[in-house]
Amino acid sequence: MSESLRILLVVAVALVDTDGRVLLAQRPPGKQLAGLWEFPGGKVDPGERPEETLIRELAEELGITVKEACLAPLTFASHAYPDFHLLMPLYVCRRWEGIPRSMEGQPLKWVRPRDLKDQPMPPADAPLIPFLIDLLGP
Ligand code: C5P
Repeated sequence: MSESLRILLVVAVALVDTDGRVLLAQRPPGKQLAGLWEFPGGKVDPGERPEETLIRELAEELGITVKEACLAPLTFASHAYPDFHLLMPLYVCRRWEGIPRSMEGQPLKWVRPRDLKDQPMPPADAPLIPFLIDLLGP
């Protein structure tokens, strides 16, 4: 088989607060898919384990500290973008230290699971919503 496929590995997390709401971050202007609301996370660096990536990204983007034991994988997004195939595990995290705040200027919002479908999201993220509703309820 000669076809080459570029796979991009990104990790994302559903941070769930005590009211069962999920945190979304808005993609910044100038980036691909700007303005869409995504589950926080980022690219896995070479040699990094996905959980290490999430711990690093959540500290950088939201100023919170999570322990690896608090991160439970739920499912994977798998989406063919024109330039690459995105593979993106979605973790769930209910416990962290600190108050999530925007460290990089990205707007943040807490959304009820049933309202996630009304948010403009990247095409890779939207198919994850039913898995969250199954887990968390509406
Ligand atoms: O966030 P970053 O730009 O590094 O992510 C790389 C690519 O992965 C994005 O351009 C976007 O296509 C995709 N992505 C996504 N959903 C996310 C995060 C990233 O579809 N939650």
